[in-house]
Amino acid sequence: MWDNTKDRALRERAAEVIPGGMYGHQSTVMMPEDFPQFFTRAEGTRLTDADGNEYIDYMCGYGPNLLGYGHPDIARVVSEQQTRIDTSTGPSPLIVDLAEAMVGMVSHADWAMFCKNGADATMMALMIARAYRGKRKVLLARNAYHGSMPWNTPRPGGVVAEDRAHFIYFDYNDPQALTDAVKEAGDDLAGIFAAPFRHDTFTDQSMPDAEYARTARRLADEHDALLVVDDVRAGFRLSRDCSWETVGVRPDLSCWGKVLGNGQPISALMGNDRARAAAQKIFVTGSYWFSAVPMAAAIETLRLVRETDYLEHITKIGEQFRAGLDEQAESFGFGLRQTGPVTLPMVLFQDDPDFRLGYGFCRAAMKRGVYLSPYHNMFMNAAMTQKDLADTFEATGEAFEDLKRSRDSLKPSPVLVALMDA
Ligand code: PMP
Repeated sequence: MWDNTKDRALRERAAEVIPGGMYGHQSTVMMPEDFPQFFTRAEGTRLTDADGNEYIDYMCGYGPNLLGYGHPDIARVVSEQQTRIDTSTGPSPLIVDLAEAMVGMVSHADWAMFCKNGADATMMALMIARAYRGKRKVLLARNAYHGSMPWNTPRPGGVVAEDRAHFIYFDYNDPQALTDAVKEAGDDLAGIFAAPFRHDTFTDQSMPDAEYARTARRLADEHDALLVVDDVRAGFRLSRDCSWETVGVRPDLSCWGKVLGNGQPISALMGNDRARAAAQKIFVTGSYWFSAVPMAAAIETLRLVRETDYLEHITKIGEQFRAGLDEQAESFGFGLRQTGPVTLPMVLFQDDPDFRLGYGFCRAAMKRGVYLSPYHNMFMNAAMTQKDLADTFEATGEAFEDLKRSRDSLKPSPVLVALMDA
């Protein structure tokens, strides 16, 4: 029987010593009521919360879990590397091995720099774009997330207008909007952040239009600016290369994170020779950026990406997940909008402007052991089996039934209402 006594007690303690009890995307206030805040175990496809409830986890740590939590090959290299050297006065030779491995896999890139979070990589991309020709204006797709730095965090607290002074926003996938934004930048265009596909929260996803991608490349070239693809979220779930290989467009810089160490903290910025001199001009570093253990994990993750059928597997599981949910929804009289790549599924309900159906459904599924998000894209991992899918559908079938029964009494989430009003 699902219970959250321990989770509630931990929340009370957290409220005393952590501002707001939790912060950023880890604050479950945005999730449906009762979603667990604390977890004690993650293995394969499954996550266990502080009360011992087990979930099939479709969030995968918001991305990093690509191959399965605690993948044995990665766990082995991590524990072996821990006995040698990790964080120290300098990098281990693994940094060269890893840079060679990444450059060997990412077609547009001639070099790599390593860091910890996705936001480190997008910050470096921004600095390199500006260092490249000493220009200032950077184009961002409206609502695209690149990290929680003042120049991109989605909430206004702590941000001043000057932090955003040199950004120009355009609508994703719209070549004309992009062309207009470039015109607005005049002779001061430093770079274009293009986003691999549209994966904004609370919104249907859209795949990149090849014409949009080619326009971004052409405009960057015409204005001697750098084109950036932020693959922090999508990396290795669309391709074993940069995601824009799928539309035949090569950026100058690509940002990587999340999956790179299958959960070990490591991210990367990849670049081509055109951007190399600018990359040498900026000063960027971090105490943990050169640690060897996450690099060992990344080298092993890349090997598994190259040598296994993980991508074909997560694509197949993703297709089955999408088809199964559609079928169940229809049989209970609901319509779903399932958009974007099947390996990064977004599941929204039709006719659900305040998301009460989505929230009600995810809450009902959570209480039956399936962890889904009603507003953020989800992530497939390669440990998923047919048994996981069967268990998922058993829970989601009951969740749809529950939703149908309670449909008329559902209310929108108060947190969400407050946010949408703000
Ligand atoms: N870019 C994208 C596209 C992301 O999805 C994220 C994180 N969700 C980031 C950058 C920032 O990564 P991190 O949270 O590791 O700093």
